Amino acid sequence: MTAFRITAIPTEVVESVRATLRAPGYGFPAHSEPATDAAPCRHCLRNIEPGKSSRILFTYDRFRGVESLPQPGPVYIHAESCPRYEENGGFPEELRNSPRTLEAYGRGRRLIAQEYVADGKYEPAIEKLFADSKVDYVQVNSTTAGCFTFRIDRPTNGTAPAGTP
Ligand SMILES: [Zn+2]
Repeated sequence: MTAFRITAIPTEVVESVRATLRAPGYGFPAHSEPATDAAPCRHCLRNIEPGKSSRILFTYDRFRGVESLPQPGPVYIHAESCPRYEENGGFPEELRNSPRTLEAYGRGRRLIAQEYVADGKYEPAIEKLFADSKVDYVQVNSTTAGCFTFRIDRPTNGTAPAGTP
Protein backbone atom coordinates (compact mmCIF):
# COMPACT_ATOMS: atom_id res chain seq x y z
CA MET A 1 0.00 0.00 0.00
CA THR A 2 1.43 3.32 -1.03
CA ALA A 3 1.11 6.38 1.17
CA PHE A 4 0.31 8.66 -1.75
CA ARG A 5 -2.17 8.89 -4.60
CA ILE A 6 -1.23 9.21 -8.27
CA THR A 7 -3.55 11.76 -9.91
CA ALA A 8 -3.55 11.57 -13.71
CA ILE A 9 -5.58 13.98 -15.84
CA PRO A 10 -9.28 13.21 -15.23
CA THR A 11 -11.02 10.92 -17.71
CA GLU A 12 -13.77 13.46 -18.48
CA VAL A 13 -11.13 15.99 -19.56
CA VAL A 14 -9.40 13.45 -21.78
CA GLU A 15 -12.66 12.28 -23.37
CA SER A 16 -13.66 15.89 -24.04
CA VAL A 17 -10.35 16.59 -25.77
CA ARG A 18 -10.68 13.44 -27.91
CA ALA A 19 -14.24 14.34 -28.88
CA THR A 20 -13.73 18.04 -29.61
CA LEU A 21 -9.99 18.38 -30.35
CA ARG A 22 -10.10 21.52 -28.21
CA ALA A 23 -8.13 22.32 -25.06
CA PRO A 24 -10.27 22.21 -21.90
CA GLY A 25 -11.06 25.68 -20.58
CA TYR A 26 -9.14 27.40 -23.37
CA GLY A 27 -10.66 26.18 -26.61
CA PHE A 28 -7.30 26.25 -28.37
CA PRO A 29 -7.12 23.69 -31.16
CA ALA A 30 -5.64 20.35 -30.12
CA HIS A 31 -3.38 18.51 -32.53
CA SER A 32 -3.69 14.83 -33.39
CA GLU A 33 -0.78 13.03 -35.08
CA PRO A 34 1.02 9.67 -35.24
CA ALA A 35 3.51 9.31 -32.39
CA THR A 36 7.05 9.93 -33.64
CA ASP A 37 8.95 9.63 -30.37
CA ALA A 38 8.14 8.11 -26.99
CA ALA A 39 6.18 10.47 -24.75
CA PRO A 40 4.01 9.52 -21.80
CA CYS A 41 0.23 9.71 -22.06
CA ARG A 42 -1.01 11.87 -19.14
CA HIS A 43 -4.09 9.70 -18.71
CA CYS A 44 -2.81 6.09 -18.57
CA LEU A 45 0.78 7.16 -17.73
CA ARG A 46 2.19 4.73 -20.25
CA ASN A 47 4.39 5.62 -23.20
CA ILE A 48 2.69 6.39 -26.49
CA GLU A 49 4.51 3.98 -28.79
CA PRO A 50 6.00 5.52 -31.95
CA GLY A 51 4.79 3.75 -35.05
CA LYS A 52 1.93 2.06 -33.20
CA SER A 53 -0.23 4.77 -31.65
CA SER A 54 -1.49 8.23 -32.33
CA ARG A 55 -1.36 11.07 -29.84
CA ILE A 56 -3.15 14.32 -29.20
CA LEU A 57 -1.20 17.39 -28.12
CA PHE A 58 -3.22 19.98 -26.22
CA THR A 59 -2.89 22.85 -23.78
CA TYR A 60 -3.57 21.88 -20.17
CA ASP A 61 -3.56 23.90 -16.95
CA ARG A 62 -1.33 21.85 -14.65
CA PHE A 63 -3.07 23.40 -11.61
CA ARG A 64 -6.59 22.59 -12.88
CA GLY A 65 -8.80 21.51 -9.99
CA VAL A 66 -6.38 22.47 -7.22
CA GLU A 67 -5.60 26.18 -7.63
CA SER A 68 -7.29 29.27 -9.06
CA LEU A 69 -4.02 30.46 -10.63
CA PRO A 70 -3.44 28.60 -13.91
CA GLN A 71 -0.22 27.54 -15.59
CA PRO A 72 -1.03 26.13 -19.02
CA GLY A 73 1.40 24.00 -20.96
CA PRO A 74 1.52 21.30 -23.63
CA VAL A 75 0.69 17.67 -22.82
CA TYR A 76 0.14 14.48 -24.80
CA ILE A 77 -2.53 11.82 -24.47
CA HIS A 78 -3.27 8.71 -26.49
CA ALA A 79 -5.61 9.57 -29.36
CA GLU A 80 -7.26 6.20 -28.75
CA SER A 81 -9.19 5.26 -25.62
CA CYS A 82 -7.03 4.20 -22.67
CA PRO A 83 -7.64 3.45 -18.98
CA ARG A 84 -6.83 6.16 -16.42
CA TYR A 85 -3.87 5.25 -14.20
CA GLU A 86 -4.99 3.81 -10.86
CA GLU A 87 -4.65 6.29 -7.99
CA ASN A 88 -3.22 3.61 -5.71
CA GLY A 89 -0.97 2.14 -8.40
CA GLY A 90 2.25 3.56 -6.98
CA PHE A 91 4.82 5.37 -9.09
CA PRO A 92 4.23 4.48 -12.77
CA GLU A 93 6.86 1.91 -13.74
CA GLU A 94 6.97 3.00 -17.40
CA LEU A 95 8.12 6.46 -16.30
CA ARG A 96 10.69 5.33 -13.75
CA ASN A 97 13.65 5.38 -16.13
CA SER A 98 13.23 8.97 -17.29
CA PRO A 99 14.43 11.97 -15.27
CA ARG A 100 11.59 13.82 -13.55
CA THR A 101 11.37 16.88 -11.36
CA LEU A 102 9.18 16.68 -8.27
CA GLU A 103 7.74 20.04 -7.23
CA ALA A 104 6.15 20.19 -3.77
CA TYR A 105 3.43 22.81 -3.34
CA GLY A 106 1.34 24.17 -0.52
CA ARG A 107 -2.19 25.50 -1.22
CA GLY A 108 -2.01 28.88 -2.89
CA ARG A 109 0.55 27.52 -5.35
CA ARG A 110 3.41 28.10 -2.97
CA LEU A 111 6.45 26.16 -4.18
CA ILE A 112 8.04 24.71 -1.07
CA ALA A 113 10.69 22.32 -2.33
CA GLN A 114 11.77 20.38 -5.37
CA GLU A 115 13.72 17.23 -6.06
CA TYR A 116 15.41 16.12 -9.24
CA VAL A 117 15.24 12.36 -9.64
CA ALA A 118 17.34 10.71 -12.33
CA ASP A 119 18.09 7.31 -10.77
CA GLY A 120 14.52 5.97 -10.65
CA LYS A 121 14.35 6.14 -6.84
CA TYR A 122 11.18 8.20 -6.65
CA GLU A 123 9.55 6.85 -3.50
CA PRO A 124 12.18 8.15 -1.02
CA ALA A 125 12.03 11.57 -2.68
CA ILE A 126 8.23 11.65 -2.52
CA GLU A 127 8.23 10.59 1.15
CA LYS A 128 10.79 13.26 1.96
CA LEU A 129 8.65 15.97 0.35
CA PHE A 130 5.43 14.84 2.06
CA ALA A 131 7.24 14.69 5.42
CA ASP A 132 6.85 18.48 5.43
CA SER A 133 3.30 19.18 6.64
CA LYS A 134 3.20 22.40 4.59
CA VAL A 135 3.26 20.33 1.40
CA ASP A 136 -0.26 19.62 0.07
CA TYR A 137 0.60 18.04 -3.29
CA VAL A 138 3.50 17.26 -5.59
CA GLN A 139 3.68 17.89 -9.31
CA VAL A 140 5.78 15.58 -11.44
CA ASN A 141 7.29 17.16 -14.53
CA SER A 142 9.70 16.05 -17.22
CA THR A 143 13.15 17.31 -16.25
CA THR A 144 14.36 17.37 -19.86
CA ALA A 145 11.24 18.80 -21.57
CA GLY A 146 9.69 20.67 -18.64
CA CYS A 147 6.19 19.40 -19.36
CA PHE A 148 3.68 18.47 -16.68
CA THR A 149 3.33 14.70 -16.31
CA PHE A 150 1.00 14.05 -13.33
CA ARG A 151 0.23 15.07 -9.75
CA ILE A 152 0.77 13.18 -6.51
CA ASP A 153 -1.67 13.78 -3.66
CA ARG A 154 -1.69 12.74 -0.06
CA PRO A 155 -4.14 9.95 0.86
CA THR A 156 -7.74 11.16 0.92
CA ASN A 157 -7.97 11.45 4.70
CA GLY A 158 -4.56 13.08 4.96
CA THR A 159 -3.06 10.10 6.78
CA ALA A 160 -2.37 6.47 6.00
CA PRO A 161 -5.52 4.56 5.02
CA ALA A 162 -7.35 2.94 7.93
CA GLY A 163 -6.18 -0.57 8.63
CA THR A 164 -2.80 -0.03 7.00
CA PRO A 165 -0.01 -1.30 9.21
ZN1 LIG B 1 -3.06 6.69 -22.57
